[in-house]
Amino acid sequence: MSREQNRTRVVVVGGGPGGYPAAFYAADLGMDVTLVDLEENPGGVCLYRGCIPSKALLHAAKVLHDAKEAEHFGITFPKPQVDLEKLRAWKEGVVSRMTGGLGQMRSLKRVAGVRGRGRFLGASQLSVEKEDGSTETLDFDAAILASGSRPTSIPLFEIGSERILDSTGALELREIPKRLLVVGGGYIGLEMTSVYAAIGSKVTVVEMMPQLLPGADKDLVTHLAKSIARDTEKILLSTKVVEVKEQKSGVKVTFEDKAGQRSSEVFDNVLVSIGRRPNSEDLGLENTQVVVNKRGFVEIDAQRRTAEPSIFAIGDVAGDPMLAHKATHEGLAAVEAIAGKKTIFDKLAVPAVVFTDPEVAWTGITETEAKSQKLEIRVAKFPWSASGRATTLERNDGVTKIIAEKDSERILGVGITGVNAGDLIAEATLAIEMGATVSDLMLTVHPHPTLSETLMESAEVYHGHSAHFFTKR
Ligand code: FAD
Repeated sequence: MSREQNRTRVVVVGGGPGGYPAAFYAADLGMDVTLVDLEENPGGVCLYRGCIPSKALLHAAKVLHDAKEAEHFGITFPKPQVDLEKLRAWKEGVVSRMTGGLGQMRSLKRVAGVRGRGRFLGASQLSVEKEDGSTETLDFDAAILASGSRPTSIPLFEIGSERILDSTGALELREIPKRLLVVGGGYIGLEMTSVYAAIGSKVTVVEMMPQLLPGADKDLVTHLAKSIARDTEKILLSTKVVEVKEQKSGVKVTFEDKAGQRSSEVFDNVLVSIGRRPNSEDLGLENTQVVVNKRGFVEIDAQRRTAEPSIFAIGDVAGDPMLAHKATHEGLAAVEAIAGKKTIFDKLAVPAVVFTDPEVAWTGITETEAKSQKLEIRVAKFPWSASGRATTLERNDGVTKIIAEKDSERILGVGITGVNAGDLIAEATLAIEMGATVSDLMLTVHPHPTLSETLMESAEVYHGHSAHFFTKR
């Protein structure tokens, strides 16, 4: 076992969408940077087993769906066939193109890469255990911890069965299960539901709460719930899984509904998508002053500095929302703090997108949050049944909604359901960050015919004079 000792100005532990942009930005600011990750190339969960492979598969699912829907306007294709091996290889190609590109970018930016597991030895020293058993010790001035998260598991599902999958296993696309149970109606569960239903599985979704996507406003989920109900065998709401047993023919799952009624069914596979937990263990944090809270998140201040002044934490390990773009922006703020700038991470809006079909996206405050905070708000909605562009796409299954402060009409939140909602929400996020009012949105000329007009038109509904949607005076 060999030992090396090195110095770096900034070390970043974890090369996901929090860590690699932080490392690259620090290098762009002229700092000497080392990026430590378990993988050869940067990317993290997002690129290897999260955002990117899931969106590649969702694209394939949408192509299958669109091919079927085209019948409505007189275009028919032969029944599409899914070549699972080719689909898997394509998805893996997408991932390796992107992670390989990031590896090249790391070299171009002269960020040193060390592959291995990082553990803090103290406030200014990190040891990296490499695959070959050797250890490298790095002395640093500042560290950014971006070790991410992993799927949550609970003993109920830990029965040692290969038929029980987490999101990583589901994305591997080993086979097309005849019957798949998806436990958890959050965004990861529903995205995987869309993929497997499209490639031919009979999917059942079970969710403990009374609605799918429990964090989203109910009216944003209506269209999605309909499309999921159409594409799946069934959706079980307000229902818990209480027993899981492997048997010869599959996994026997027992459900309990809110009335306490129990029923059992057998599935070929069970995908457990009940949340994610931060990777805050086995990092040597006990050798530092870094504080980890009860939920396992590292405690940070507005600059993303931990209780150990030389160590920052960003991304999934540092708290909700566990989203790639939040991780990136936190990383950039931490780097600026290290560079001595007076930057804080102070966002009015972090958009959330569910890449199902239709997509569901929201930004800023939700109506439910606003009501629970007793804010004085007014809400306006523009249904996509009134949108010209949505009609040309044969996709009227959408809604755009604005939540604004009653007196000032400042926009506090926006929710959109419909095709491309994930792209459309960016304009709303900018509006909130700029302190825009509903009138600002209404008076901004939007191109016609586009789905972006639904933002402008929901602002018109707010003011009671929409050209395409009748609102009672
Ligand atoms: P991660 O991406 O988790 O990266 C952490 C990195 O740290 C990993 O590479 C890991 O190997 C490394 N690491 C951990 N411990 C150590 C150590 N001790 N030493 C060295 N390296 C270490 N988010 C979105 O915004 N949009 C989406 O569409 C989306 N889709 C998703 C789909 C799925 C199926 C999943 C699972 C997640 C999805 N997410 C999505 C969430 C997103 O992937 C995470 O929020 C994001 O990856 C968090 O970034 P991060 O930098 O904090 O950590």
